Amino acid sequence: MTIPLRLREWDGPLTSDLIRSPGDFGLGQVPAGSRPDATTTIVCGFCATGCGLTAHLRGGEAVNLSADPDYPVNLGMACPKGWEALAPLAAPDRATTPLIRNPSTGQMEPVSWVRAMHEFTTRMKAVQAKHGRDSIAFLSTGQICTEEMALLGALFKFGMGGIHGDSNTRQCMATAHVAYKQSFGFDAPPYTYADFEESDCLVFVGANPAVAHPILWQRVLRNRRNPDIIVFDPRRTETAMAATVHVPLAPKSDLTLLYGLAAAVIARGGVDRGFVDAHTKGFDEFAQFVAPFTPERACAEAGIDRALFDSVVDKILTRGRVSYWWTMGVNQGHESTRTAQALINLALMTGQMGKPGTGANSITGQCNAMGSRLYANATSLLGGRDFLNATHRAEVESILGLPAGTVPDRNSWAYDQIVDGIESGAIRGLWVVATNSSHSWIQQKRFNELLGKLDFLVVQDLYATTDTAQRAHLVLPGAGWAEKDGTFINSERRFGLVKKVRRAPGQALSDFQIFHLVAAAWGCADLFRDWRTPEDVFQVLKRLSAGRPCDITGIPDYRFLDAAGGMQWPFPAALRDRLMQEAGVASAHDLPAKALKEARERRLFADGKFPTSDGRAIFHFDAPRPVLEPVDAQYPFVLLTGRGTSAQWHTNTRTAKSDVLRRLYPAQCYVEVNPEDARRLGLTMPGRARVRSRRAELEADVFITPTVQPGQVFIPMHYDAVNRLTLSSFDPHSRQPSYKFCAVVVEAVGIS
Ligand code: SF4
Repeated sequence: MTIPLRLREWDGPLTSDLIRSPGDFGLGQVPAGSRPDATTTIVCGFCATGCGLTAHLRGGEAVNLSADPDYPVNLGMACPKGWEALAPLAAPDRATTPLIRNPSTGQMEPVSWVRAMHEFTTRMKAVQAKHGRDSIAFLSTGQICTEEMALLGALFKFGMGGIHGDSNTRQCMATAHVAYKQSFGFDAPPYTYADFEESDCLVFVGANPAVAHPILWQRVLRNRRNPDIIVFDPRRTETAMAATVHVPLAPKSDLTLLYGLAAAVIARGGVDRGFVDAHTKGFDEFAQFVAPFTPERACAEAGIDRALFDSVVDKILTRGRVSYWWTMGVNQGHESTRTAQALINLALMTGQMGKPGTGANSITGQCNAMGSRLYANATSLLGGRDFLNATHRAEVESILGLPAGTVPDRNSWAYDQIVDGIESGAIRGLWVVATNSSHSWIQQKRFNELLGKLDFLVVQDLYATTDTAQRAHLVLPGAGWAEKDGTFINSERRFGLVKKVRRAPGQALSDFQIFHLVAAAWGCADLFRDWRTPEDVFQVLKRLSAGRPCDITGIPDYRFLDAAGGMQWPFPAALRDRLMQEAGVASAHDLPAKALKEARERRLFADGKFPTSDGRAIFHFDAPRPVLEPVDAQYPFVLLTGRGTSAQWHTNTRTAKSDVLRRLYPAQCYVEVNPEDARRLGLTMPGRARVRSRRAELEADVFITPTVQPGQVFIPMHYDAVNRLTLSSFDPHSRQPSYKFCAVVVEAVGIS
């Protein structure tokens, strides 16, 4: 049923059936009074592993979750966040109505959606009228559905006339995106999760899957090939402890060390010349470039001994199937793109690509960071296209039926450039969607001071209590995961289905509905007349994908996705038709399980063809650069940040709402210190330490552990104070912030 319940007072151009009442169910619809044991499937809304969960319904509403034994990603497993994913939806501080800040009192006051939309449009338009169309920007997220991201990006750039929009995926996956795009010609992680189980040697660089991606780690543990597991990490993480080889390299020496490994592989005749000659270009220049990275130099700069270095080279050369895996330890560095590409280069030069158990594989962070990379229409044009490419712009205009010239011919600023734009006064209106920048953005104090310069700050979120929402002029209450329909794309390129199995509280609306409200209030709803439901938009995404490396024209609809257990891209219509022909069925819905199993699990580049102009992968490399802020006598410690526990997610906005999860991690911010340093500094447990950088300081509980090396300290990113310390430093290609290195001093402050 589609009734305009809470919008009945709307007198604008909104059509009555455009917005579904918050009380209506979507895909997860089960009639009230249904059997208490009714269930439906849903993909998890935290991380990009993309686990399948079973939602247990009572009276048509999800009351519990369990791990889906049939979903090909997690095979019946889930981490604590998945099991507890409903708890944050029931938190008492959910935003239930739009809120506007009263300029006289400074207090937030509840208002109707009509008033909220009036405030949004009049103030954003006033900013544009006074300062130009580019003076508004959005910062979005990898946590909303693909269809919502596409609608936001299209609304902002094609309807509202804005140019600058980015998302928090800049903080996690921009490096992988740029590295793949440059090396392969498209942002295309090549693997399937089966590769965890089919590899003879797994090399993890800057990744701690045992904690950050626990279900993927379980997939590694299912490997029956007696694999070597090599972990490059300054810390002896949970993954490093379980590995066969831990390489405790010095922070940010990874690029030099990887070039040293490449040089050693070349010197020992380990290059797959047949693959290199047939499928790549630039190898000879690369070989010449890495020649000076001798084992002695690599070991000296990484602080590791030669025997360890040689043993890694041995394993890379002698174990049959070698796969390289990386995540934030690489992506969040000052030369991260070239570091990721150093791993891609190793896989290419040894021919470890396109075969089971191989690949240079980025493990993604957020549940829909991959959707953001392809369809957010923020810094890339819809479908992984380029705004600067006239052919690409014309394709999108044609597919969407837009007048010529609607698609901007300029790139958006990246997140850090938008922040700089606020500082310079170029950006005056900011729309923050489902991200908590006030906690998570690097060098937090500067960011939060800059928010005070904005003429208008809108925050759209589940909670009005986030650090960012508390600074807003207008808060728009959003429905969360499981309160709306749509798709996510996981790390291995799998589209998975999200269903509405809960009612959003009060007047909270799905982001999809809010974007439609904005379009209607702005006066550009007609552009989105074919985008009425998330599944309508999915059909639009299919058209945008046709003929692209991410082609999904073979997926007929959501029902097929659900039954198939998700589907990896590409899944072109030609592949679907071949499968149907082989199976002798007339509809994709009738494909037998065996055919679906074959279809739903595919790695890329089995044919050695890459989506570059000449079909060859490209070797990229650059000389290593020093970090922006090296340690010195005054600030002698390297601060490392990262995931704390499997029970925490990013800024803890949601995970802190679960009583169960809160019991699984320390309540107070803590700093991990090596016993040697602790002795020297007089730090004890229990005890408190003051950690100070050139920007700010914090106090934290002391946790003395040999898992961090002397001269280094580690603080989990989930505690809001940590980014007071971090330094604005960015990779020049991906513009991803370098959260993994800044200089600090540590002092004891006495027993608490
Ligand atoms: Fe959800 Fe990720 Fe945990 Fe799977 S591993 S249950 S996707 S948070």
